[in-house]
Amino acid sequence: VISHALNPYSHSSSPSASARMAAVRRRNTQPELALRLALREQGVSYRLHKRDLPGTPDIVIRRSRIAIFVHGCFWHRHKGCARATLPKSNRFFWSEKFVANVRRDARNARILRSMGWKVFVVWECGIETHAQRVARRIAASAKSRYGRRWIV
Ligand SMILES: [Zn+2]
Repeated sequence: VISHALNPYSHSSSPSASARMAAVRRRNTQPELALRLALREQGVSYRLHKRDLPGTPDIVIRRSRIAIFVHGCFWHRHKGCARATLPKSNRFFWSEKFVANVRRDARNARILRSMGWKVFVVWECGIETHAQRVARRIAASAKSRYGRRWIV
């Protein structure tokens, strides 16, 4: 259940309130839970919210060095997605904020890759309809990467 104040689709909150809200990244969102369930069904064991990794990936499969981000389409600007709307008021504030979000996401993914991690970015809209398919793809990747010798 998303409270009204936290709902990114309601555009009534002030920029400062929204900024505070956005600073607190939401954990254990519905799409995240759906993907975790689907991964368990695939026999994948994982860890959550690894703070010692860049960007604190939502799901980590350590032995295969796979980091998964489950991104909300609004905050992380899913390209071409109907949910990546631009609020009608405070447009400048929002576009600055979104540019920063996208840059930060890209930088975190780049650093992770340079550390030998494979990065999956999963969008909330895709998870709602294709959680099993996404989990199968991740599981296949995890199996193919499992057992490699990693030198850090
Ligand atoms: Zn989307």
